[in-house]
Amino acid sequence: MVVVRNLSKWYGAHQVLHNVSMEVNRSEVLCIIGPSGSGKSTLLRCVNFLEDFAEGEVRVGGRLLGYREDLKGRRVPDSRENVARVRRGISMVFQQFNLWPHLSVLENVAQPLVVVQRKPRAEAEAKARQVLDRVGLAAKLDAYPNQLSGGQQQRVGIARALAIDPELILFDEPTSALDPELVGEVLQVIKRLADDGLTMVVVTHEMGFAAQVADRVIFIDHGAIVEQGPPQTLFRNPGSERLAQFLETWV
Ligand code: ATP
Ligand code: MG
Repeated sequence: MVVVRNLSKWYGAHQVLHNVSMEVNRSEVLCIIGPSGSGKSTLLRCVNFLEDFAEGEVRVGGRLLGYREDLKGRRVPDSRENVARVRRGISMVFQQFNLWPHLSVLENVAQPLVVVQRKPRAEAEAKARQVLDRVGLAAKLDAYPNQLSGGQQQRVGIARALAIDPELILFDEPTSALDPELVGEVLQVIKRLADDGLTMVVVTHEMGFAAQVADRVIFIDHGAIVEQGPPQTLFRNPGSERLAQFLETWV
């Protein structure tokens, strides 16, 4: 589903990703863990081509994302249309929910379908109702974001991500902005999506969640993958001092 090969990225002279290679298979849940500043968000943003990258390649569903080879085999930026086509099946959920304060819950989910996908409004709203029901917010369609708890707001964010019927959802620390007592309800929703077979990459500091839901965990430090494997292996038998130390701080 997603194949990342030898991806390297620099911000100016500062290399933030070093030769990262990883794969996400269909219906797999991959969790990415690592210290602050290690490059987790940057990696996720490259997979969605919200960031460009100087070296390596990202394939989604077999198709190259962001770059193509020209007739002489050189790597050149791909056209906006091609990039948009490959990205169409990818949703992203951010730490900050990014809801529109002046739109109702229903409109927050329906509006992008009307604007981006040019769906008729009635169809967009029907889809919005369906995905809001899926995240347990059927009773809140007419509420405004400031009338919701943080956990409910993030569930609207997840509903919005679901509304495009994505092949892949990328979560960047979806519960980090929440009060501790609201974390569980959001993780529960994500877990249910995993059970439904959605393909997901989740950057998270919630090790309990990663242990429970991830098929595979990647530990990244200083922009490089240090270890990856099933959570049972990584969490019980960290193969590196760096992961062992990291787990001590977080668990
Ligand atoms: P956190 O857990 O705090 O979210 P992270 O693992 O997501 O951290 P990134 O946000 O990917 O880390 O940042 C990786 C490195 O890239 C950091 O050193 C950061 O300072 C740097 N960086 C991130 N965004 C930019 C930017 N737009 N310009 C320059 N440097 C950046
Ligand atoms: Mg981050």
